Amino acid sequence: MSTIIAFPANNVIAEFGYNQLEYNDFLKSFSKRNRNFFAFSEQVHGNNVLIVKSSDFDENSGFRIFKNVDGLVTKGKNIFLGVKTADCIPILFFEPEKKIIGVAHAGREGTRMNIVKSTVQKMVVIGAKIYSILIEMGPAICQKHYEVNQKIFQQFVLETGIPQKEWQIDLKKVILSQLIKEGIPERNIIDHKICTLENEKYFSYRRNKTSRRQISFVGLK
Ligand SMILES: [Zn+2]
Repeated sequence: MSTIIAFPANNVIAEFGYNQLEYNDFLKSFSKRNRNFFAFSEQVHGNNVLIVKSSDFDENSGFRIFKNVDGLVTKGKNIFLGVKTADCIPILFFEPEKKIIGVAHAGREGTRMNIVKSTVQKMVVIGAKIYSILIEMGPAICQKHYEVNQKIFQQFVLETGIPQKEWQIDLKKVILSQLIKEGIPERNIIDHKICTLENEKYFSYRRNKTSRRQISFVGLK
């Protein structure tokens, strides 16, 4: 069993989590390994994104959960940005020219509110060039397994403006469109196309209402 390495280039460490790397275990076991800092967003299904700096961390814990946000960006070295998911989409961002990274948690609400637009814009604030941003979308629930009721479906389609097959929602289709609209070249966007519900290596809330989450992360060396 292997995990998915994102951005297989130099200067960045990025992986999509599978259930061997679990959020709760990770928090319990975390210590100041390798003098790295680890940042998670609280993940409240919104579209707020925060710029993270080394000074945000307590030297003794090296670990912090940032309240009321679903996305994080940084250009700091040795800062790992994490996201926890079990059907929602973990999205990792990397701008190799200016060495800027980002992470976003995109469920239905975050996608409806365009969390990826907020993330890209925050990266630009700290110097990223839009056309250089690379993006990977990790394991998440697929369209076929994400059926919702008629009311939710209609509201989602109305607000995102992206047609969907009744009564299923394809979140990645919407995100791809949102990213391209922001000016990200389509060739810069990778979708790993793994469905968490179908693949038992991954936690899936829809499969069994689990409270467990896999973690994905990106960090600059
Ligand atoms: Zn599926």
